Amino acid sequence: MRYISTRGEAPALGFEDVLLTGLATDGGLYVPESLPHFSLEEIRSWRGLSYSELAFNVMHPFVDDAVPADDFRKMLDETYSVFAHQAVAPLVQLDTNEWVMELFRGPTLAFKDFALQLLGRLLDYVLEKRKQHVVIMGATSGDTGSAAIEGCRKCEHVDIFILHPYQRVSEVQRRQMTTVQGDNIHNIAVRGNFDDCQRMVKESFGNQSFLGGKTQLAAVNSINWARIMAQIVYYFHASLALGGPDRSMAFSVPTGNFGDIFAGYLAKKMGLPISQLVIATNRNDILHRFMSGNKYEQHQLEHTLSPSMDIMVSSNFERLLFDLHGRDGLAVKTLLENAAKGPVSIEDYRWKHARKLFDSDAVDDKATCDTIREIYEQNEYLLDPHTAIGVRAARNCRRDQAVPMITLGTAHPAKFPDAVAESGVIVKPPLPAHMADLFEREERYTVLDNNIAGVQEFIAKHWKNA
Ligand SMILES: *Cc1c(COP(=O)(O)O)cnc(C)c1O
Repeated sequence: MRYISTRGEAPALGFEDVLLTGLATDGGLYVPESLPHFSLEEIRSWRGLSYSELAFNVMHPFVDDAVPADDFRKMLDETYSVFAHQAVAPLVQLDTNEWVMELFRGPTLAFKDFALQLLGRLLDYVLEKRKQHVVIMGATSGDTGSAAIEGCRKCEHVDIFILHPYQRVSEVQRRQMTTVQGDNIHNIAVRGNFDDCQRMVKESFGNQSFLGGKTQLAAVNSINWARIMAQIVYYFHASLALGGPDRSMAFSVPTGNFGDIFAGYLAKKMGLPISQLVIATNRNDILHRFMSGNKYEQHQLEHTLSPSMDIMVSSNFERLLFDLHGRDGLAVKTLLENAAKGPVSIEDYRWKHARKLFDSDAVDDKATCDTIREIYEQNEYLLDPHTAIGVRAARNCRRDQAVPMITLGTAHPAKFPDAVAESGVIVKPPLPAHMADLFEREERYTVLDNNIAGVQEFIAKHWKNA
């Protein structure tokens, strides 16, 4: 399998190199040159497979000979055995033909574990083979950092440095990062905000000379193709559990960076019958505004009860724009360069095509709280605020009651107790048993000034072979 850049000017790469690269050298994102396609008969034959067996069938064409089949099967068994549910991604019924797929049974209680548990293992496998080392540098406002740390804590060939804004992440989120022990794990609390952290990461990727040429940076955010790949699997899993591929499914996806919903779009292109894909956003609704009015325009960032979806621009949307433009990288490059300067639109027929592929809705904090309360009153089931946005959008956009509607449950409610309290539900969501002692565990992190030279010096000094 070859991978090409969405901006058309970077060299095509194989899976191993795509895994170790962040952005392409032309500033684009890597996508497969062509997608595998599965027949209904083949998908039908996957009924009854375990999650990890299914994952093998869906992902092996992307990984190819970078990981031989037996090793890849073993890696997937290990990856999905750390989830605290035998079904890995269990489905919970909300109403007639309406479901939540719980993607929060992994070690850090958000769907990001599905990809990052695998990414850590893939990285270490490939680096062992190549006798190489990487430094992961990432910025987090919450869920990505902890999932990346958990995914990489056992890696021999990876050091991981996660920057978070000092005193600006929730206590649960901070403790999930800072209580993981390991010589290769480094938490940096930056005296600044999330954007400051992200800017330092971006600049460091652009100029890695501070590492003295002895190692290189690797990315764990969803610009990394391997993350998207791992998220395609659970669309097949949900469909097969509910009678697919012989009936079509609808999915509603709480969306920030457009990673998870893009994986659903790919599942459909790979042959899975999906009749509706709903983009569910919070008040940071650039995607919903584009889908409703063909105007792609950045607004000021708003802080909401669903912080993991508080973003101004969705980086992965570029991967969809590439397809919408007939995979013309230069057209995408021009469009996004213009988008950085002001509002842009795409040709009407291209936008109409996008509207056929996706429905969308934006849900504010009040409707989020109303939904948490409503579902609790109806079912005694607690939603986290991100999943609640998905459920609300699913109900608002639903087209066909006969088609199962599945909302992706992206986080455990115990991660966001304040939103649950604000909804008026009086029960406090308890932390799952495997995390019950989170508040007693020892924390380790370093506070640094909002200054890139200091952060880079810290990294250069503290990675394993420095
Ligand atoms: C990351 C995240 C999202 C957004 O996912 P994208 O793939 O960036 O669209 C939604 N909900 C939760 C809980 C998350 O952690």
